[in-house]
Amino acid sequence: MNTEPTIAVGILQFQSQIRGTIHGRVRFNNTVETSGIFHIICENGALSLSVESGKELLRSQFIECTSINNSPISFPSVIIGKQFHWEQTEPQTFHGSFRFIPDSPSTFAVINIIALEEYLESVVASEMNSTAPYEFLKAHAIISRSWLLSMLQKKTSRSSSPTTHSSPTVIRTKNMYIIERWYDREDHTLFDVCADDHCQRYHGITKDSTTSAAQAVRATKGIVLVHNNELCDTRFHKACGGRTDVYATAWDDICLPYLQSVPDSTENIPFLSSEHEAHRWISCQPHAFCNVQHEPLLQSLLPSFDQKTTHFYRWRVSYPRQQLEELIATKTSLEIGTLLDIVPLKRGPSGRLYQIKIIGTNATILVGKELEIRRLLSPTHLYSSAFIVDIERDASNIPRTITLRGGGWGHGVGLCQIGAAVMAERGHTAQSILEHYYKNTVLTQLY
Ligand SMILES: [Zn+2]
Ligand SMILES: [Zn+2]
Repeated sequence: MNTEPTIAVGILQFQSQIRGTIHGRVRFNNTVETSGIFHIICENGALSLSVESGKELLRSQFIECTSINNSPISFPSVIIGKQFHWEQTEPQTFHGSFRFIPDSPSTFAVINIIALEEYLESVVASEMNSTAPYEFLKAHAIISRSWLLSMLQKKTSRSSSPTTHSSPTVIRTKNMYIIERWYDREDHTLFDVCADDHCQRYHGITKDSTTSAAQAVRATKGIVLVHNNELCDTRFHKACGGRTDVYATAWDDICLPYLQSVPDSTENIPFLSSEHEAHRWISCQPHAFCNVQHEPLLQSLLPSFDQKTTHFYRWRVSYPRQQLEELIATKTSLEIGTLLDIVPLKRGPSGRLYQIKIIGTNATILVGKELEIRRLLSPTHLYSSAFIVDIERDASNIPRTITLRGGGWGHGVGLCQIGAAVMAERGHTAQSILEHYYKNTVLTQLY
C-alpha cells in the first residue's frame, strides 16, 4: 500500500428519518444540488429526500451525497456510547461524502466516506482529551491507524474465503445452558467501522481539529505497528487494572504473539488467573500506571463525558438477589429460578473472567466471554469482567445481596489508555509506550 485509503464509517443505523444541515452546498445522487436543512425519510422501502419547505428533491433506493468545496454536514442528535453507561446524544458535524442505505425494510444507515487520516484526527480527539500528553497522542494515532488497516485487511481476506466467525449462541444440555459469545468488528457489512465504542469513537469534526491530537496524527501519517512484517491488530482499552490481558479472553481462541499480558508498571505484577491472586489483587489498590487518583491529570486525559466515570481502577456494584434474577431473565430469556451462586470458572491473566457459572434452583448457566459477562450482570455493562463475587446470605443460605468488586475498565487487551498516558507524562516516548504494550513490534511507514 502506498496511497492513503478512504473508509466508510457508519454514523447512524436503523433510522426511519433524519434531519441534517448542509453548511455550504452538496450534490445528491449526482443530480440535484442543495444547501441548508434537508430531511430523509424511509417510506415503502425507498428513501425520500426533501428540503425544509417539504418539497421532495428525489426518491431512490440509495442516496449518495457529494460535498462541494468540502462543505460539512451536521446532524442534531447522534448517539454515542450506545448501550454503555455513558450513552448520550450530541450534535455532530462531518466532512467527506455520505451514503444513505437501507438496513431494514423500514430504516436506513447513514455512512460517512472520509480519507483515513482525517478520520483518525477525529478518532484520536474523540478517544482522549486533546490536552493529553503529546507522545501518548502519537502512540494512539499509530494504534488507531494500525487496528483499522489490519481490520480492513482481514475483512478483504475474509470476503475471498468466507469463514464462520460468529460464535455460538445458547446451547442447552440437561438443566444447563451454555452461552459463549463475543463480538467483533467484522460484524459490519454496509460499512467498514461504526462511529461508536464498538469500533473506535469517531465524533466528526465537532471537536477542535487544530489541537495536538490532530497534530499527533499528522506527525505520524502512514505509520503503523508491524510484527514479523504483518500489520498488528492493535487492540486497546481504557484501564487494565494492573495487568493487561490476552486476545482469547475477549475474542476467539487464538494467540496473537504481540498481544501478551504485560504488567502496567515498571515493577513485576503477578499473573491474576488464579482465584487466590485475583482476590488478593482486586482487594487492594496496588500501584500501577492506570491507578490514577489525581483528578487534574484525569481531566487532562479523558474527554468530558468519560470524566463522569471515576473509580474505574477499583469499583463495586451491589444487587439485591431479586434484582439480579430479573436482570438475568431479561438478558437471557432463561428462567433459572432462585439465584443460588455465581462461580468464577476461568480468568485471563489480568483477572478478567471469561467464563462464570450462574447457579439457580431451576437451571445453571455457563456464560462467556468477557463482554457477555459484563452485559449479563449489569443493566448496561460492568466496567470490566475482572471482579470477585461476595454473597451475603440469609439464615437458610439463600443469597440476599450479591456484590461484585472489580478492577479496570474495558476488555484489558493491548494498550491501556490511562496507563499509556501516564507513561507519556513520565517522559516515555510513543515508541517506548508501544514497545511496552505490544511485544516485539516495529514501526513502519505504509504511505
Ligand atoms: Zn463497530
Ligand atoms: Zn492499566
